[in-house]
Amino acid sequence: MKEKKGNCLSKKGSSLETLLAEMKEARSADVGWKNGQSWGLVYHAGEEVDQVIKEGHNLFSHGNALDPQAFPSLKKFETEVVAQTASLLNAGPDAVGSMTSGGSESSLMTVKASRDQAYSEKPQITEPEMIIPESAHPALDKAAHYLRIKTVRIPLATDYRVDLEAVRQSINANTILLVGSAPSYPHGVVDPIEELGQLALERNINLHVDACLGGFVLPFLERLNYFVPPFDFRIPGVTSIAADLHKYGYTAKGASLVIYRNSKLRRHQFFTLTSWPGGLFGSSTITGTKPGGPIAAAWAVLNYLGEEGYMRLVREVMDTTCILQEGIKNTGQLEILGQPVMSVFAIGSNKLDIYALADAMVKKGWQLGRQHLPPALHLTVTPPHTKIREAFLADLEKAVREVEDQDPENCEGIAAMYAMMGTMCSQVDLKSFAIDYLDKTYRV
Ligand SMILES: *Cc1c(COP(=O)(O)O)cnc(C)c1O
Repeated sequence: MKEKKGNCLSKKGSSLETLLAEMKEARSADVGWKNGQSWGLVYHAGEEVDQVIKEGHNLFSHGNALDPQAFPSLKKFETEVVAQTASLLNAGPDAVGSMTSGGSESSLMTVKASRDQAYSEKPQITEPEMIIPESAHPALDKAAHYLRIKTVRIPLATDYRVDLEAVRQSINANTILLVGSAPSYPHGVVDPIEELGQLALERNINLHVDACLGGFVLPFLERLNYFVPPFDFRIPGVTSIAADLHKYGYTAKGASLVIYRNSKLRRHQFFTLTSWPGGLFGSSTITGTKPGGPIAAAWAVLNYLGEEGYMRLVREVMDTTCILQEGIKNTGQLEILGQPVMSVFAIGSNKLDIYALADAMVKKGWQLGRQHLPPALHLTVTPPHTKIREAFLADLEKAVREVEDQDPENCEGIAAMYAMMGTMCSQVDLKSFAIDYLDKTYRV
């Protein structure tokens, strides 16, 4: 960027033209998601869908879904999107849900609902616990942290799915909630949801399925006759499912869903205040003012694409995924971890330094997610990758040859992830490193 605006608001303001030029300039430093250079963060279904997003979003960028009486339009969009998705997830006629700002809010809402249901129906529970796989998204730990619930994190079995026996043994009188992912973010594998469902029923506790990634993929994969492990409301013990619209739903950022089997649990999600001079207050999710743009855009994209549109996108992305996985295995030095069910997976190696490989790929213009425990690189495949898959594999082959004879850098685990941010391999206190990083980053 040419210049920083700094701390002071400009006296006079600028023309839209000037600002657009400056914003486009700023954007040029961002990862090239439209060209498939990034393997996460953005889910782009092409220019046509982008047009739908922009127009839908624009029409409602001032809309506030906080008040459904003032905005029956947004209420209609939200409830229709919830109902359409509930049906995709094979929920029965009693299903209800909410749109939220993202998977993290969806997670927070379902954990809150379970907690408050337990407080109201099981008064003997004063220190609630939830049991989650180690691979569950940090959003669930974050929810537990905010809501003061103890999390019991269960190790993974060798297939990267949660160790069921360990889950069984961890359930106690304070357990209010089990969680499984469909699929997990780090490895793209689906936890044994059927068995978790049975445990949940036997012990009369809730089971949340985190389908933030899979919610808008797995139902279509099933229609396309791919193998999809059972994960949705057809499993009797499942009480809620989260699905991100702004991931494989391909809608604008700021949109996710939490769906409940019935309204009994959702009632505990709501917040009310009856003694406020401003009036009787009720709010369904975390946000007060609830942006209309993402809700309208989500409704528009869902109904623009329809089942056929999603099937086409899912088929395309899966074809690319298969080609990429073949090419990755053909390097002879890399492996796919576990048995990923869809277009999210991790590459590991017991032959070369996987972080050195990531560094070599950065030099060729590719940003891959760096994971640890075990060291791996993460790929989320989306439509823009169709055009670049051969170029990516050619560069990967070159990068493998570059690093296969190098001595490992002796970076253990996650320390190597941070090497790319300019810290030392020997970084010890990861927690304060991460806080320092955030503190330093969010400054002008
Ligand atoms: C992305 C993701 C989340 C969190 O969603 P955000 O939209 O980033 O808040 C939760 N669970 C899984 C499996 C995810 O992939």
